[in-house]
Amino acid sequence: MKAAVYSGIGLIECREVERPAIGENEALIKIKAAAVCGTDLRIFKSGHFAIKEGEERILGHEFAGEICEVGSDVKHYKTGMRVSIASNVGCGVCRYCRMGSLHLCPEYVALGISVDGGFAEYFKLPVKALLQGNMMELTDDTSFEEAALAEPLSCCYNAFKSVGTGPGDNVLIVGAGPMGALHLQINRLAGASRIMIADISEQRLRLFEKFKPDVIINTKKEDLKEAVMKNTGGKGADVIITACPAPDIQQISVELTAKLGRINLFGGLPKGKEYVQLNTNLIHYNGIIVTGTTGASLAHHEAALGLIMDKKIDTKSVISRKFKVSQIKEAFDYAISGEGLKTIITF
Ligand SMILES: [Zn+2]
Ligand SMILES: [Zn+2]
Repeated sequence: MKAAVYSGIGLIECREVERPAIGENEALIKIKAAAVCGTDLRIFKSGHFAIKEGEERILGHEFAGEICEVGSDVKHYKTGMRVSIASNVGCGVCRYCRMGSLHLCPEYVALGISVDGGFAEYFKLPVKALLQGNMMELTDDTSFEEAALAEPLSCCYNAFKSVGTGPGDNVLIVGAGPMGALHLQINRLAGASRIMIADISEQRLRLFEKFKPDVIINTKKEDLKEAVMKNTGGKGADVIITACPAPDIQQISVELTAKLGRINLFGGLPKGKEYVQLNTNLIHYNGIIVTGTTGASLAHHEAALGLIMDKKIDTKSVISRKFKVSQIKEAFDYAISGEGLKTIITF
């Protein structure tokens, strides 16, 4: 089968590899669409602790496909079923797995990072993932491409739950990337009154016009604090999501938040830049809640997939370009350029 194999920093290529054989408790999925994530690009650019030097890995953790083979002991799933796959697999016995937060399991396995993933024609779903319920059936009118974005949407859904946007809230999203576009849609669905999107890239902000944010703020040209205050009657935003790896945005977020506002630190910071000075008096006196989220649980994935299948969130609009797996280098170059939003791999 064809697969995009990562073999070290800056090295990824499409080549023929052996199609995985499944055991009696496993399932084989024919991948139909896989999305390139910022995490894939980070691995490509600077490696990952879960991939040792000299080791190779088929990347890709945002994907959907059709079951083409099931082991003799597999229940609930059959060949021909169209499915979305959640990418985190917990150990099953730790405190966080027991709480249903398997994405916080200290021993979690990430499909497409710690084991082979979805940038391949076929993917073997490990038995643990199958039994934990990582595979979820799609409705007939949901495309594989839409479903491939259930994983990033599930991370945004997790963030949304932590800040609990409701009708009337003013929302500021910093970072006009694909995640920003999904945050925007969820917050609108939740009843946000005014959605402000901020970024330093004019070109990215232009891509956002189709999502119809109420306010677009180019932080290269405009002062972020002034713009937020101007658009919220001087109160500040009720909800802020920092969908960018920028320490200065985290720092200023507490100054942009209304009293009783909520902040979600969604984007992690680069190593060495994770210490940020905050005016904690603003958190204290204004009753601000600061949350952080990463990844998503199976419940988040199911909810996100439901929003896609019920046509409440349009993930298709976040897809900019599609490439065949044989063009994996071009696909990565395009994704790294930041010219578009989501890049999709097909087979
Ligand atoms: Zn991802
Ligand atoms: Zn665990």
